[in-house]
Amino acid sequence: MKLKKMLFTVAAGAAFSLSAFAITADYSKVVPLPATIISDATQKGFQLNPNTVIIVNSKCDKMKKNSELLADYIKKLTGYKLKVVSKGAAKNAILLNDKLDSKNKEAYTLTVSENAIQINGASASGNFYGIQTLRKSLDADKKDGKYIFPAVSIADAPRFAYRGTHLDCSRHFFTADSVKQFIDILALHNINNLHWHLTDDQGWRIEVKKYPELVKKGSMRKCTVLGLNTQEYNNTPHGGYYTQDQLRDIVKYAADRHINIVPEVDMPGHMLGVLAGYPELGCTGGPYELWCRWGVSEDVLCAGNEKVYKVMNDIMDEVCDIFPSEYIHIGGDECPKNRWKECPKCQAKIKELGLQPKGKISAEEQLQSYFMSQITNHLATKGRKTIGWDEIMEGGLAPGAIVMSWRGENGGREAAKMGHDAIMTPSSYLYLDFPQVADNTKEPLCATWGKPNTLQKIYGYEPVPSTFTKDEAKHIIGLQGNLWTEYMPNMRHVQYMAIPRLAGLCEVQWTAGDKDYEKFQQRMKQLASHYRLNGFNYAPHGIPAK
Ligand SMILES: [Zn+2]
Repeated sequence: MKLKKMLFTVAAGAAFSLSAFAITADYSKVVPLPATIISDATQKGFQLNPNTVIIVNSKCDKMKKNSELLADYIKKLTGYKLKVVSKGAAKNAILLNDKLDSKNKEAYTLTVSENAIQINGASASGNFYGIQTLRKSLDADKKDGKYIFPAVSIADAPRFAYRGTHLDCSRHFFTADSVKQFIDILALHNINNLHWHLTDDQGWRIEVKKYPELVKKGSMRKCTVLGLNTQEYNNTPHGGYYTQDQLRDIVKYAADRHINIVPEVDMPGHMLGVLAGYPELGCTGGPYELWCRWGVSEDVLCAGNEKVYKVMNDIMDEVCDIFPSEYIHIGGDECPKNRWKECPKCQAKIKELGLQPKGKISAEEQLQSYFMSQITNHLATKGRKTIGWDEIMEGGLAPGAIVMSWRGENGGREAAKMGHDAIMTPSSYLYLDFPQVADNTKEPLCATWGKPNTLQKIYGYEPVPSTFTKDEAKHIIGLQGNLWTEYMPNMRHVQYMAIPRLAGLCEVQWTAGDKDYEKFQQRMKQLASHYRLNGFNYAPHGIPAK
């Protein structure tokens, strides 16, 4: 029996090598481009075949998951179902390690010789990025060949620790499976944070056990405005929410792909999702209902009502229980102060706190600052750091708060100069709901309040000003592309807006070297083959024909 099996294997191997043409991996076509690639033409490369094994030299669960994902990727690319083992000789093997000595925990090396491919990460995350590079070195359009990986030594590490993409699931709701597919797209681009916008005036998406009315009254709007915020509406209710079990499942799915989810509960504005179910938390007492149109509601949480703080802290407790993220986003943007100016409770609170207008900063703006610090302090007791949109700077910044700079770059620059960490996401470069080409007439609906953010523009973005000192630069912890979904009713549309622009973004997030857009475009051709293989819907802009 044993001999027969062996003969069969040899015969199958021979037939395979005779008939197949060579598909050769090309590391110089990977996006984002690895920091150093040293080829060795004097050595034979590694030939992947159905008998190649994946060896995991680690007891870490995350490494085991990495090996399973690698096996899945290879199956999809080549059709081979490789065995994953924990021990074995380094012959005809892909060896996965997490023992690389590097200060940057996301660093990895990838070494290819005739006998083996070795991926060594400074952690399981570093190892995962080595796997991504290996996967992307193949042209995914080619199949049924002999897969050859030329001999090479690659050493790589990301420039920024925070490499984010934002997804708004309030303006349009996307199923848990769609969100998982979106996470797969982020993984392909070495992105490690999903900033998940889960609440807004148009829908509340988080099941909160203590406050069931949030999803009962706050997750389904009656209708949706047509086109670019016209006066016409459809009559189709739209909404949905994620149960806590679903949220936990998505958190795990993301973590397996080394992506942290930063949940956002946007407050004290953008809060009709809460007010619809709990009208007593607003300044006027309501009634309130979810908006069917886009924009900023004047109705916000009452900052003079003690119950508001209690409810928000309770909600944050459940949010922290679901999301292990060190960072929790608490919004803080676009909170009109008209209700607060007229509300006796808010005015009494201003008096109690002794808030006086200071130059351009009104007492109400300082009240918002007080509001944000109450929530920030509560989250700090749970070991969490808060992120807020750059408006949180207006009435004074809570200690330790991280600024997300969206109205240009000044917020982020100022925060960094003040010693606060900042994440750059200026709308003028990184809003992915803006058009992606100058002539937008043939494109799907998109936000038109900004100029087009083309792939080239995003690729050329530099988040750290050259005038910054080393210390100031250190506080720019990363950058993020934002997908506001007012005009993206389904995940296909989201994908079209996201890719290939995420490719430009990920090069800025990952690589520190010189940029060359034309060479980048040539590399995009290979990355696009992976979009096709995985069935991702991408825009053609900026990707040359093969
Ligand atoms: Zn009030």
